Amino acid sequence: MANKMQARCVIVGGGPAGMMAGYLLARACVPVIVLEKHADFFRDFRGDTIHPSTLELMHELGLLDEFLKQPHQELRELRAVVNGQPVPVADFTKLPTRCKFIAFMPQWDFLNFLSSHAKRFQTFQLYMETEVVDLLIEDSRVVGVRAKTPRGELEVRADLVIGADGRHSIVHTRGGFKQCEFGVPIDVLWMRISKKQGDPKQTLGFFQHGKLLVLLDRDDYWQCGFVIPKGGFDEIKARGLPEFQNELVSFADFLRDRVAELDDWSKIKLLTVQINRLRDWCREGLLCIGDSAHAMSPAGGVGINLAIQDAVATANLLAEKLRSGPVSVDDLRKVQTRREWPTRLIQGMQVFIHRRVVTGRASGRKNSLPFVVRLLKWFPVLRQLPARFIGLGPRPEHFRSPTVT
Ligand SMILES: Cc1cc2nc3c(=O)[nH]c(=O)nc-3n(C[C@H](O)[C@H](O)[C@H](O)COP(=O)(O)OP(=O)(O)OC[C@H]3O[C@@H](n4cnc5c(N)ncnc54)[C@H](O)[C@@H]3O)c2cc1C
Repeated sequence: MANKMQARCVIVGGGPAGMMAGYLLARACVPVIVLEKHADFFRDFRGDTIHPSTLELMHELGLLDEFLKQPHQELRELRAVVNGQPVPVADFTKLPTRCKFIAFMPQWDFLNFLSSHAKRFQTFQLYMETEVVDLLIEDSRVVGVRAKTPRGELEVRADLVIGADGRHSIVHTRGGFKQCEFGVPIDVLWMRISKKQGDPKQTLGFFQHGKLLVLLDRDDYWQCGFVIPKGGFDEIKARGLPEFQNELVSFADFLRDRVAELDDWSKIKLLTVQINRLRDWCREGLLCIGDSAHAMSPAGGVGINLAIQDAVATANLLAEKLRSGPVSVDDLRKVQTRREWPTRLIQGMQVFIHRRVVTGRASGRKNSLPFVVRLLKWFPVLRQLPARFIGLGPRPEHFRSPTVT
């Protein structure tokens, strides 16, 4: 016999979209249960960026001062090294927000922070190690989920199921949604290299003849993301580890004395990159948000922000009604209508970046700078455009759902 629970809303997935939606709905006095399949938030394969628009939301929620006390780094200007030449790419200092920087914070710290605040509301419950394996559907309406836990099976019934379970969402698969897939020509190799005194001070991107190495500063080590052509990992492996190590050094010479730490392929993880979008994000009793509705590439580092914006729009549009009962599919569709065009715009830009920048079609002659990059170098004012796009995103959301104390 499965254990049974009931809530107004059950959220599948405790990533940025799920935790923010859970926090906001609980704050608006909607009884909400978040189910997360892992035992903790400590996973490597996540981005670390908290954007100015998210920081603005933290301010609107009264959490900013405490949030900024968590260990983090502040990136006010985004610089890259393109074909060996340092170039400024985005200047966040002119943004119309309280925080004119991207905060770099390990995502597990961000999620722990949100969950600790959410747990202060009696209406919030979080169950870790609880993996949703199916939807409960009655008369074509989704009425809950079935999950497996170390303590046995669990059934949670709710007026609304929110799928926030990321790119490989069971919710959108079982919900029978149709997906549009956009070809992505890249994958990412993900690995750690230790940090040393004298290393550059912040997160870095190195572009070189259509290839890209990103180094995320995680305090005592560099989290490295190396962009490769899709399906190219076997070829890289066949060439051998020493050649791969040399390739990394050709991007960032300061890693020369420690690339040998990567002495086994098991230390190098392949992350497949996808861009896709559901045609419909909802049906009776079910709404998908974040990567579950639209998988994002790491290009531009905007997926976390977009997921959070979806969560805010969801709470803004649904919290009031959900407090007193079920919401209609027309209500749910309003979330898609609000968030779909920012998603389309950002995904369109990511497809462009993959085709023109990362795969090298725009890299021009050896050691030359692509034209767009040269424009950014010559005209500082232009750096405000990528700053707005990355830092705020199109149609930034503001917190409007009710707060019940
Ligand atoms: C290599 C890589 C690097 C990236 N770097 C960045 C970056 O630097 N900045 C940025 O903004 N974006 C980045 N992105 C994109 C970003 O990670 C996603 O867009 C963002 O995490 C989406 O948030 P989400 O909450 O929708 O989904 P997720 O972050 O994927 O969270 C989904 C959650 O659901 C849980 N879950 C899954 N299935 C189930 C289930 N059946 N039952 C219960 N729980 C489940 C998962 O464990 C997870 O905690 C990157 C993407 C990749 C692939």
